[in-house]
Amino acid sequence: MHRSLLFAAVATVAVACATSPLGRQQLRFFPGDQMAEMGAAAFAQTRKETPAVSDPALTGYVKCVADAITPLVEGGPETWEVVVFDDPQANAFALPGGKIGVYRGLLDVAKTQHQLATVIGHEIAHVQAEHGNERVSTAYATEAGLQLVQALAGGQGAQNDNVMALLGLGAQVGVLLPFSRTQETEADLIGLDLMARAGFDPRESVQLWQNMGAGGNGAPPEFLSTHPSHGTRTDDLNRRMDQALALYQEAQQQGRTPDCRR
Ligand SMILES: [Zn+2]
Repeated sequence: MHRSLLFAAVATVAVACATSPLGRQQLRFFPGDQMAEMGAAAFAQTRKETPAVSDPALTGYVKCVADAITPLVEGGPETWEVVVFDDPQANAFALPGGKIGVYRGLLDVAKTQHQLATVIGHEIAHVQAEHGNERVSTAYATEAGLQLVQALAGGQGAQNDNVMALLGLGAQVGVLLPFSRTQETEADLIGLDLMARAGFDPRESVQLWQNMGAGGNGAPPEFLSTHPSHGTRTDDLNRRMDQALALYQEAQQQGRTPDCRR
């Protein structure tokens, strides 16, 4: 216990200058390989609990979109594992260590490759900006931290679900712990850049979030509950659109013109 508290105190000092890709100060205790381990464990558990889609056309389509984006992630792993889960919810997630999960229901809302790239870009942006690390670190800095560490060491049950929720699997494991509004806005904007750099049309991001909103009760908390109003979100995206369009054009000139089909 003493060692854990000491670690927390030292780490607080050590990470005082950690910043997100958009320049925001972050609390981040955990080294990348430890976050990757947590991500792999959370992914393994999700795979155990949820069947994967076996339709090769569908999985090939989702992989095509993801594979266009993942090489652009700075400091990201070389290989990413992409699984389409056979579940009607319109949701997706990405985890540290290069894991991406897309739920079948998302494809009813993300109607084009560009719209699917919007969601996958958003999820990967959460990983690139180390939002999971930030949330696990914040939890660790509280009294709950000791229980969390036990869960990280291979525990089961509620604490394990809490760790998964902190990594962004909240809706999936039934623990409602959405990313903060700040983190969501950051993921929108970093994701916009990512999709554009991969050669997907960033203008379709606005349509995707409109579709997601129109889904009403079908849309999961990850995308809606902590979000600014739809108008604010659209305004934020549009403010960055010129920059994103320039990245999109540059991608096309460099031959990054993905053509993913179902
Ligand atoms: Zn998000």
